[in-house]
Amino acid sequence: SGKKIGYDYLVIATGPKLVFGAQGQEENSTSICTAEHSLETQKKLQKLYENPGPVVIGAIPGVSCFGPAYEFALMLHYELKKRGIRYKVPITFITSEPYVGHFGVGGIGPSKRFVEDLFAERNIDWIANVAVKAIEPDKVIYEDVNGSTHEVPASFTMFMPRFQGPEVVASAGDKVANPVNKMVVVNRCFQNPTYKNIFGVGVVTAIPPIEKTPIPTGGPKTGMMIEQMAIAVSHNIVNDIRNNPDRYAPSLSAICIADFGEDAGFFFADPVIPPRQRIITKKGKWARWFKSAFEKYFLWKVRSGNIAPSFEEKVLELFLKVRPIELCKDCEGAPGSRC
Ligand SMILES: Cc1cc2nc3c(=O)[nH]c(=O)nc-3n(C[C@H](O)[C@H](O)[C@H](O)COP(=O)(O)OP(=O)(O)OC[C@H]3O[C@@H](n4cnc5c(N)ncnc54)[C@H](O)[C@@H]3O)c2cc1C
Repeated sequence: SGKKIGYDYLVIATGPKLVFGAQGQEENSTSICTAEHSLETQKKLQKLYENPGPVVIGAIPGVSCFGPAYEFALMLHYELKKRGIRYKVPITFITSEPYVGHFGVGGIGPSKRFVEDLFAERNIDWIANVAVKAIEPDKVIYEDVNGSTHEVPASFTMFMPRFQGPEVVASAGDKVANPVNKMVVVNRCFQNPTYKNIFGVGVVTAIPPIEKTPIPTGGPKTGMMIEQMAIAVSHNIVNDIRNNPDRYAPSLSAICIADFGEDAGFFFADPVIPPRQRIITKKGKWARWFKSAFEKYFLWKVRSGNIAPSFEEKVLELFLKVRPIELCKDCEGAPGSRC
């Protein structure tokens, strides 16, 4: 509407702008990053079921959110198997990660072997450490680290896009928006170092890549990390109003339950940015039931308007001794660096 609203404190939590960086990606491929994209993808999947052919799934250079691509590949494998047409559909996973199971975080425990075994058991081929350059209606073109170009035939593809800060953040200038990815510049306490009354929460915050990879990748910001950011920022704003000098940083630990269709993987990294205090990797049907139950609980919570994660906080503290935030003596430092 163009209406201007003044503020004492501003929390930027817009989520990302999606960048479909491979040539032809937006026109020829599919995405599951918005509800509209997912519905479009569902229609294209119907065509695949009617007319089976090769499938290619993966992540282009600069992606930071790899989990959904793995889930999609494994769930599609399960769906094709149930429909009795899996033997007509070769599935290839192509990623910018240096190895499968890297997830943009240098792996979580044995996640490399874990994913390699999963893919081998389910007959999914994989090509890692490459840059997908173009997606055409019938093939995917990628470049390896030596600069050679290769092609993989495809009648259905799904590739994760890169995330960038949206125009509204970029319009605030380089002190608010990181000049490279236009995400909100924040310190350890998720406060902008220049404008102390501006904070960032969620995917839109500029967290440096966790490790340098031959093909660029970014670190993920998962739901649990985002809740921790929001808790820390809320405490910091309240303390600022009350002239209390205590400031908090999010712990940035994460539980990820990755749906594999028939079962699921349970990953716990505390914190996500190494070195880590604790790592858990497990697989089983129980993890899938847990994810389905949490989804129902989460949607009920959102619909009822009561979104504070107080129950989750208590359960996580009881079972995993996870604290969402920690007192930070010195907030000046990169987000995720130790207080
Ligand atoms: C396909 C997919 C699956 C994922 N699955 C998981 C998972 O299973 N578990 C997990 O932990 N994480 C998952 N994630 C990662 C992450 O948790 C989610 O992306 C999460 O929704 C990000 O939260 P956010 O608050 O940063 O952004 P969003 O959820 O995108 O929320 C941003 C909000 O800001 C609004 N907005 C945007 N611009 C403006 C503006 N200018 N003014 C006002 N409002 C605005 C948007 O409409 C939106 O409501 C997934 C990510 C993707 C892409």
